[in-house]
Amino acid sequence: MDTGTLKNLIGLSREQLAAEMAMIGEKPFRAKQLWHWLYNRGETDFAKMTSISKVMQARLAEHYVVARPEVERDLISVDTTRKWLLKFADGNEAETVYIPDEDEVRGAVCISSQVGCTLTCKFCHTGTQLLVRNLTPAEIVGQFMVARDAYGEWPTPDDQARKLSNIVMMGMGEPLYNFDNVATALKIVMDGEGIALSKRRITLSTSGVVPMMKRCGEELGVNLAISLHAVTDDVRDRIMPINKKYPLKELMKACAEYPGASNARRITFEYIMLKGVNDSAADARQLLRLIKGLPAKFNLIPFNPWPGSEFECSDMKHVKAFSDILQDAGYSAPIRKSRGADILAACGQLRSESQRQKCSRLAERLKAGIADEHHVFPS
Ligand code: SAH
Ligand code: SF4
Repeated sequence: MDTGTLKNLIGLSREQLAAEMAMIGEKPFRAKQLWHWLYNRGETDFAKMTSISKVMQARLAEHYVVARPEVERDLISVDTTRKWLLKFADGNEAETVYIPDEDEVRGAVCISSQVGCTLTCKFCHTGTQLLVRNLTPAEIVGQFMVARDAYGEWPTPDDQARKLSNIVMMGMGEPLYNFDNVATALKIVMDGEGIALSKRRITLSTSGVVPMMKRCGEELGVNLAISLHAVTDDVRDRIMPINKKYPLKELMKACAEYPGASNARRITFEYIMLKGVNDSAADARQLLRLIKGLPAKFNLIPFNPWPGSEFECSDMKHVKAFSDILQDAGYSAPIRKSRGADILAACGQLRSESQRQKCSRLAERLKAGIADEHHVFPS
């Protein structure tokens, strides 16, 4: 059957799903029933939705599909980290990573928000890729659903019995530059009658898109992580161009005002350890001054190299010394263990091979002035 013309039900908000049901002449309560099948049971086949009449099953199949992104590659690291290269209906690709805890009982799914990224952070592989487009709500929720398919976590298990226990919006792209779609997707994920993941188990990481941070806290209430990586505007301007737009002072003010942050729910400051760039004892002390008064914790990330990157990771003894200074001041400052490096699934390594070819094609089209408005160049 050619499903190309059928609409995907995944990614619609509850209101949108109800509107679809009204459109095909069904009662609104059908949307609630369907929601359960889609997001609690993970069912993709209308014929297996047994609480729905045969007549309605047929009507649904006439108009809709329940589609997942296609799994193009499925790689498992020696350390059990797993990475899916997903292909979307238009041929674009993005990556999703599952990072089990050491005991493999629970773990986080690292989700992408865009294909590529417009922000050209110097240490990040994704940043070397042009943004092709924002991911849709269906493509964002779809990443988590693919992971649940792979581990058979349907129907939604009890909170305590889930391998896929957390979500981190730390894959490819800047989530706060695709806020509407990320918000729709996360609201679906947090809905108690479906996937039912608590906002406390979701962390959104941003490079510091200051004007969107308040909305993120108010509308979603998820945990916030800031990719800080430098303690002076000079250094941050150099390694993270977004700092020129939203410098440290503004970023820290937005953190202080982040709704819902408290000592029990601290803001995570992510800090990549770059040899000779940001890793001195003086940097660590300046970091403490910078976050003074904020409910903060740290995550020190040893730099993960990628082909052509201009940095080196700090020596472990420097990383340790840096961590000790933060911990002596009373903060949690674990050193993130690199996971999945053998399958290029570690932080900052996501970037698909086939994308590179597409990007060079896109660059040519932009140069020739024939690219469309969905294709954005990094500024
Ligand atoms: N765009 C958002 C979400 C991506 S999160 C953000 O930047 O926060 C990806 C995380 O991995 C960020 O903290 C990023 O700074 C970090 N990262 C990027 N490149 C890295 C690298 N080469 N080694 C280690 N961490 C890296
Ligand atoms: Fe984009 Fe985040 Fe990578 Fe910077 S670190 S280029 S914001 S994905």
